[in-house]
Amino acid sequence: MSRVTVIGTGYLGLTHAVCLADLGHQVLAIDVDQDKITKAAKGEAPFFEPGLEPLLRKNLDAGRLRFTMSFPEVAEFGEVHFLCVGTPEGECGQADLSFVEAAADALAPHLTAECLIVGKSTVPVGTARRVMSRIRATAPAGQRVELAWNPEFLREGFAVQDSLAPDRIVVGVTSLRAEALVREVYAAPLAAGVPLLVMDLETAELVKVAANAFLATKISFINGMAEICEAAGADVMPLAEALGYDARIGRRFLSPGLGFGGGCLPKDVRAFRATAADLGVDSVVSLLTAVDAINQGRRDRVIALARAVAGGTLAGTRVAVLGVAFKPNSDDVRDSPSLAVCDRLTAEGAAVSVHDPVAMPNAARKRPDLAYAPSVFAAAQGAELVLHLTEWSDYQAIDPAALAGVVARRVIIDARGTLDAGLWSDAGWSVHILGRP
Ligand code: NAD
Repeated sequence: MSRVTVIGTGYLGLTHAVCLADLGHQVLAIDVDQDKITKAAKGEAPFFEPGLEPLLRKNLDAGRLRFTMSFPEVAEFGEVHFLCVGTPEGECGQADLSFVEAAADALAPHLTAECLIVGKSTVPVGTARRVMSRIRATAPAGQRVELAWNPEFLREGFAVQDSLAPDRIVVGVTSLRAEALVREVYAAPLAAGVPLLVMDLETAELVKVAANAFLATKISFINGMAEICEAAGADVMPLAEALGYDARIGRRFLSPGLGFGGGCLPKDVRAFRATAADLGVDSVVSLLTAVDAINQGRRDRVIALARAVAGGTLAGTRVAVLGVAFKPNSDDVRDSPSLAVCDRLTAEGAAVSVHDPVAMPNAARKRPDLAYAPSVFAAAQGAELVLHLTEWSDYQAIDPAALAGVVARRVIIDARGTLDAGLWSDAGWSVHILGRP
């Protein structure tokens, strides 16, 4: 059992803190956001993540997990400090490292004893080494402060299971001592057979952005194929299925639709493109530019289709939007494709009514001007067009015949391709699916 701290209690940090406590460690977590710390200390997760809140309460009750806003307390407590602060998109697409630097600067002056700082945030290659120099320059313990980078691969919606039983643990280190400490922290998953890949700092930083770039490329590839299918009168759904049977390709992340969003893939693709440009690797710049452009193009495609089925203009059209989270099982609306579509709908004069099972409070903070409905039926009341934009399983259970009773026109665009088109057609709906004839 080690004494570990977690700096930053957002989607990544809070999940990490809770799961480390559940593995048996003593965990002290810190954030600069008073509201998050107050809620977490009371056993309330400040965001929606299946399974997180019960585990948070369990570990608070067991006395293994505490929260603070004091960096001196964190420095005093921890043998290992996990850095989990945000690295949002900067003005020109590059990663904004100001939170990483601020956290390092807040912690360093209090580090009087040997310790290990483990970065988990997603950062451009070279960041870890710079952060290590920055910390050593002001830490009283100087060279006895070590740094490792342990990128995180958890998926929102599956964050707890991904943290407790990851596919792999990747860590970049500069010493055997750092590796030994990381092995100690992750002793339980390693004993359960999770592979540990130990490498240098730079490669570890790159593994994360390369993984996200690959996933984004796979999504944009199939969305590019959807565009081809639309232009050629072919059907992208059986195409994707047939490709997926090839074990070298695989079916996952090959779902055509509205494209990716959220707090990670879009910004990580753009930050990696900025890094590739800095490094002069133009081929990767071109690749990631195309990936981003195809992804953005899906939002335009939905609007174009909506305009066409609305008779050429969206002005005055009543549109019901189903789903506003960037993906199902999450309340995250950062870079949500659905919210981007809502923006365009309202810009073109449509009257938009939105429903989402959990993400409406977050959406309302960003877009207070949209109308939020307490149920699918309330959102669809009088609608001339229904847009299915986030593939919550709840929406697959909608009875299209019942919904037909409240809309003004039975027209639906399934931008995620997950509804049962036959069922909706049988109930008299005109169903439009991206990439299908
Ligand atoms: P987030 O915005 O939800 O959380 C970041 C937290 O850091 C916030 O609570 C913020 O208040 C806190 N913070 C900012 N400055 C601080 C400081 N100086 N000291 C202490 N706390 C501070 O972001 P997130 O989604 O948790 O992402 C964090 C990092 O993890 C990013 O680099 C992201 O790319 C990466 N990541 C995220 C996910 C994910 O699914 N969300 C998955 C893998 C990796």
